[in-house]
Amino acid sequence: MHVRIPIKYLLPLILLIFSVASTALIYLYDRTRLTEKVTEQMTGVAADRLTGMQGTLELLLELDEHNGVSRQLAAFSGLPDNVTLLITDAQGRVIASNRQADRSRHITDRHPEISTSIMTEVITRRTIETRLDEQGRWLDAYASVCTRGSGSLRSDSCGLLYHRLDLSYHQRIALQPLKTQTGFIAIAMTAASLLLGYLIHLMLFRRTAILAETVNRYAQGERSARSGLIGGDEIAHLAGNVDAMMGRIEADEQALRAKEQRLKTLFNSVRDPIVVTTLEGKIISFNHAAEKLFGYSTGEVYGRNINILMPQRDQQTHDSHLLHYRAGVRNSTVIGKGRELIACNAGGEEFPVEVTITEMRDSDELQLIGVIRDISERVEAEQQMRLSQQVFEAAGEAIVITDADTRIIDVNPAYEEITGYSREEMIGEKPSKIKSNRYNHEFYEQMWESINRTGSWSGEIWDRRKGGETFPKWLNINSIRNAHGEVSHYVGIFSDITAQKAVEEQLEQLAYYDPLTKLPNRALYRDRLERELLQVQRRPHISALLFIDLDKFKQVNDTLGHDIGDELLIAVAERLTGCVRASDTVCRLGGDEFTVILSDVEKIEGITRVASGIIEQLQQPFILQGHEVEIGGSIGIALMPQDATDFVEINKKADIAMYHAKASGRGNYQFYTEGLNG
Ligand code: GH3
Ligand code: MG
Repeated sequence: MHVRIPIKYLLPLILLIFSVASTALIYLYDRTRLTEKVTEQMTGVAADRLTGMQGTLELLLELDEHNGVSRQLAAFSGLPDNVTLLITDAQGRVIASNRQADRSRHITDRHPEISTSIMTEVITRRTIETRLDEQGRWLDAYASVCTRGSGSLRSDSCGLLYHRLDLSYHQRIALQPLKTQTGFIAIAMTAASLLLGYLIHLMLFRRTAILAETVNRYAQGERSARSGLIGGDEIAHLAGNVDAMMGRIEADEQALRAKEQRLKTLFNSVRDPIVVTTLEGKIISFNHAAEKLFGYSTGEVYGRNINILMPQRDQQTHDSHLLHYRAGVRNSTVIGKGRELIACNAGGEEFPVEVTITEMRDSDELQLIGVIRDISERVEAEQQMRLSQQVFEAAGEAIVITDADTRIIDVNPAYEEITGYSREEMIGEKPSKIKSNRYNHEFYEQMWESINRTGSWSGEIWDRRKGGETFPKWLNINSIRNAHGEVSHYVGIFSDITAQKAVEEQLEQLAYYDPLTKLPNRALYRDRLERELLQVQRRPHISALLFIDLDKFKQVNDTLGHDIGDELLIAVAERLTGCVRASDTVCRLGGDEFTVILSDVEKIEGITRVASGIIEQLQQPFILQGHEVEIGGSIGIALMPQDATDFVEINKKADIAMYHAKASGRGNYQFYTEGLNG
């Protein structure tokens, strides 16, 4: 059994045991020495005593002074160490003894301790012998007492003088100082042990207990615990070192905690989600961005397999990749940059991510760090891009994209088709490469002013195809701005409106032109005449309205048919147009009625010259489908502003003048005069 005794008790105890043992050994040694010395001394004393008594006793016995013998013995019998002192006769009968009972008895009866062999030897040899008993307590001295002469003891009859001493008496006396000394030594040693124990307790154990308690408190987590022991001894030195060490550890721990906190803050403030796993795929770190992306809290995923962040169908593949990786197959299926995968959040929603996985050694363990990027937006943008590209490619409208300097960076196939220029020919060029020169500098300035101010411009514009042909297009220009609000691109979208323009023109033709002769019809005539009536008042010169009615036109219809009548009307229209300036207007109001607005004429002669010219032209025969047709025309003329400044009025007056010309025999022209008005 392992018994633990505190050093506090053990050291004084050892000291005590050691001192007791050594004291005891010294005592035993001294006692043995003293005992031997006492024995030796007393052996001499006993022999001396017997020698001293021997002569006297022999003399007294020879004189038969038995009383003297008894007195002699009595003188020694009183000694404190005496046990037995007796004298026998030659037969061994006790003559005198310090013990009354011995008298007259045989010595061997009374003292079996007496050695008969020594007794015999002493008597025979007349010597003095001493013997020590086995225990060393009793010292026996033997001497012969011989008498010569008469009496019972005559002729060398020898008796025995026997003396037994109690050595313990002398030993006690001799050992007394030794015992006292040993007692003192024992008391001193015990006191020294106790004192030592107390000093050890005071200097060592109380202080080491404080130190131990401090270390214990520190170990329990009380990082501010310090022993505070001072002094110049080893304990104070040790305590000082321990305090300093604890201080350093605390400082190191604080630094480590601060570093850990910094790393944690950094880890959590990174915008990209980061997941750290063991090589087995167990999640051990999950930053805030990851929590946000996956919808799990760190507590929910800690210790779980990373495959919970993937769709179920991919989990097995991932697990086997990881298994291979652990087995030492280092390929790119685990470690790698920017791998695109499908992730799955807590709600089961799937989304594309880009993952970069690296290996990290934390103490002895290998870990995997996954930096994840949600690429939903990018993938969507790519899809959008592809879609836009497809729209760009397939659009029926031409699309031209330029940079901020209006240098073309792309055109679509519709652009190529409409303009005749290939993409390669246009890239790097300016859109103005296809301009038609129909517009002046101000037109383009206004267009750019609108784009810069409102971000867009739209309108009809004529450009030139690669073949040189101009064409109308409806153009939308939009400026594209970047995140800083700066124009990064311009996009022009246009469609070829040639066909549309043709339809428009056709409609206009129908609304404002006579379908047969292509001359302005009554509606356009009215418009032009009203404009002329307005302008003529602000000008110094005169204008004239000529009403022309063909003479005997009905006959052509009737004799040659309506178709030839129509052809004649077309031919008349051409001749009339040929008689006037381009700025003048020739209209057909209906039937065989035509009008001419002669604009801004300097003199009346100018008007009469035109009128005569028309009369003459209309009298020239027309060849229509092999038929020579002759007609003529009558013209009524009203002047603006002289005759009228009102549309109805001027028409009425020109009409009156025309009827006057008919009435005057046809084939002539007449000016309106007030006289006609009756
Ligand atoms: P006048 O010398 O008095 O003017 O007699 P006219 O024969 O010219 O007869 P008028 O001016 O009174 O009549 C015009 C005729 O023109 C009537 C009609 O049959 C004919 N006409 C009207 N519109 C058309 C047309 O579009 N095509 C053809 N072929 N004939 C028309
Ligand atoms: Mg007519």
